[in-house]
Amino acid sequence: QYVLGIETSCDETAAAIIKNGREIVANVVASQIESHKRFGGVVPEIASRHHVEQLTIVFEEAMQNAELKFEDLSAIAVTEGPGLVGALLTGVNAAKALAFAHNIPLVGVHHIAGHIYANRLIKELEFPLLALVVSGGHTELVYMKEHGSFEVIGETLDDAAGEAYDKVARTLGLPYPGGPHIDRLAHEGNPSIDLPRAWLGEGSFDFSFSGLKSAVINTLHNAKQKDIELDPKDVAASFQASVIDVLVTKTGYAVDKYKVKQLLVAGGVAANKGLRAALEKEFATREGLELIIPPLSLCTDNAAMIAAAGSVLYDKGVRSDLALNANPGLELTSY
Ligand code: ATP
Ligand code: MG
Ligand code: FE
Repeated sequence: QYVLGIETSCDETAAAIIKNGREIVANVVASQIESHKRFGGVVPEIASRHHVEQLTIVFEEAMQNAELKFEDLSAIAVTEGPGLVGALLTGVNAAKALAFAHNIPLVGVHHIAGHIYANRLIKELEFPLLALVVSGGHTELVYMKEHGSFEVIGETLDDAAGEAYDKVARTLGLPYPGGPHIDRLAHEGNPSIDLPRAWLGEGSFDFSFSGLKSAVINTLHNAKQKDIELDPKDVAASFQASVIDVLVTKTGYAVDKYKVKQLLVAGGVAANKGLRAALEKEFATREGLELIIPPLSLCTDNAAMIAAAGSVLYDKGVRSDLALNANPGLELTSY
C-alpha cells in the first residue's frame, strides 16, 4: 500500500510517499525560510504563492523518487488544517485535483496528527501512549488509546513553545526561525539568570510560555537601562532551561498518571538538542516505558508524517470527498 502525503500548512511545501504505513519511499521538502527571513517571520501571502509555484514540482519529484505511477497509490493524504488558510488551500486543492483526475481516495489529515505519526516511521506504536507535541503553534500532551484516537489532556494557554523560542530569538536579534539559534547559544552559555516556570497549579497538564517570554524581554530591557552586559548565551541557556524544566516535569506527571507504554515526541521544537537530551535522561531508562524521538528532519514540517497518519486513517476507513476544505482552526479530535 502506497500513500502520497501533501503538506502546505505553513512555509514548507512537501510531498512524500509511504509504503505500508511505516516505510518512507520518497520525502521531498521545499523550504521557504529564505523568502520569509527578511520579514522576521512567515508572510502568509508569500507562503501561498510559493506553494503554488512549488507544489507540482515537489509531488512529481516524490513520484519520480519512488518510481511509482498514480495508479499505484492507495490514497492521497493532505493536511486540511490547522495552519495558514491560503497555504492550506493550495495543498488541499492540489490533492483534490490529483484524487479526482486519477480516481484515488482522498484523506484529510490534521497537521498535529501528522506530527505525532512521524513517530511511527521510527517505531511501531503501542497503546496507550502519550505524545508531547511541541511545535511552532502547539504545545500539547496528547493521550492515545488506539490508532486515530487523540485526547488532548493539556495544552498551552497562550504562546506555544516554538513561538516563545522565535520571539525570544527575535529580541536577541537572531534570525528567523530562532529556535535552532537559541538551541546553539544555550549550549555555550550557563543558565545563570533566574527565570519563572509556569506550573499552573497542582495536577495541571497545561502550559504557559508568555510569562517566561515577557520575563526574558524585561530582563534584557532592565540590564540595558542599568548598562549591565548580559551574555546572550546565558540568556538563551536560562530561557531554554525553564522551557525544558516545565516540559519534562509535566510530561513525567502525565506518563505516571496515564501509565502509558510509549512516550512520543513531536513537532519542530522536538529538534531541540537540550530537550532531546533532557527527555532521554528522564525517560529512556524508565521501566515499562519506551521513548521515541524522531530524527530532526521528521520533527519539523514534512509530508512523510502526513502520509503516515493518512495511511492509518485510510485503513480505519476514513475518507474525504471533493468538498474537503482547508480549515485553519481545525481541532484535534478522534477519527
Ligand atoms: P504547528 O506544527 O504547530 O502548526 P509549525 O508547523 O509552524 O507549527 P513546526 O514546523 O512543527 O511548527 O516547528 C517550527 C518551530 O520549531 C519553530 O518555532 C522553530 O523555531 C522551532 N524549532 C526548530 N528547531 C528548533 C530547535 N532546535 N530548538 C527549538 N526550537 C526549534
Ligand atoms: Mg515551518
Ligand atoms: Fe508543524
